[in-house]
Amino acid sequence: MKFEELKLAPELLAALTTCGYTEPTPIQAQAIPQLLAGRDLIGSAQTGTGKTAAFVLPALQRLAASGVRAGAGRHGVATPRILVLAPTRELAQQVAEQALRYGRSLRVSTVCIYGGAPYPVQNRDLARGADIIVATPGRLIDHLERGRIDLSALEMLVLDEADRMLDMGFVDDVERIAALAPKSRQTVLFSATFDTAIARLSARLMRDAVRIEVESDKSAPLAIEQRVHFADDHSHKHRILDYLLADVAMTQSIVFIATKRDAESLAQRLQGEGHAAAAL
Ligand code: AMP
Repeated sequence: MKFEELKLAPELLAALTTCGYTEPTPIQAQAIPQLLAGRDLIGSAQTGTGKTAAFVLPALQRLAASGVRAGAGRHGVATPRILVLAPTRELAQQVAEQALRYGRSLRVSTVCIYGGAPYPVQNRDLARGADIIVATPGRLIDHLERGRIDLSALEMLVLDEADRMLDMGFVDDVERIAALAPKSRQTVLFSATFDTAIARLSARLMRDAVRIEVESDKSAPLAIEQRVHFADDHSHKHRILDYLLADVAMTQSIVFIATKRDAESLAQRLQGEGHAAAAL
C-alpha cells in the first residue's frame, strides 16, 4: 500500500517523503482511514509499530482541512483542537516531535506540557495559542485549573499508552479531562494491552469505537537501522569503528566484543582518542 491511497493532504504526503517513509506500517494502513472518517478507535499497538503517526497524521489532516489557526489564543487562553495525553514526559516529547515534523509546512502550533518542568515557559507557549497540546495528565490539570487551557473547542482526544496511564494511577485525571471536552469529539485510545480496566475506560469515553490490533513485531523497531560492515583485518575494523563513532549524531554507543581482555583494550584505546569510554 502507498500513503497516497490513504487520501492524506499533499503537505502531509510531502512531509512523509522527506522523512523517507515509503509505505504505511500495518497500524497506519488500518487506523488512518477509520480516523479520517471520524470514527472513535481503540488500537492495540506497541511502540515501534508507527502508532504515533497513525493518529498524528489524521489529527493534522483535520487541522489542514479547516485551516490552521495561527497566533494567540483567545484572551491568552489556549483552546486546542487536538489533545494527546501520554503517561510520561518522554513519550509526550516524542509525540510532539512527530507532530512538528509532519505538520511543519501546515504551520501547526504544537505545545508540549509535562510535570517537573518550570511553569513560565509552558505558560508563555500556551498564551501564544495551540492547535495541538501533547500533555501528561497531572500537569495538564494544573493548567486547566489555572484557566490557561480551555477544552471547549476540542475535536479530537487521544489517549496514548492508555495502559501505562492507568498503571500510573492517572485514571481519574484522564476522566476529569475528558469530561471537560465536548461530547461530540473524536476519541482515540492506544494501548499495548487490552484488559478490563481499558475496556471500562473506553466504554465510558468512547462511542461505537472500531478496534484494531496489530501483531507485535518481534523484529527490530522501525527506528533501529541494522548494518553489516565487512572488514579486511583488525586495523580495518578499528578504522570502521572510529569512523562510526566520530559521527556527531552518535551521542551514545554500545560496542559488543567477544572477550573481557578485548573489551578493556578497546575501551582504553577509545579513551586515548578522547571518548568517555568504559569496559563492562
Ligand atoms: P512509533 O511506534 O510511533 O514510536 O514509531 C516508531 C518509529 O517509526 C518513529 O521513529 C517513526 O518516525 C518511524 N515511522 C513511523 N511511520 C513510519 C513509516 N511508515 N515508515 C518508516 N518509519 C516510520
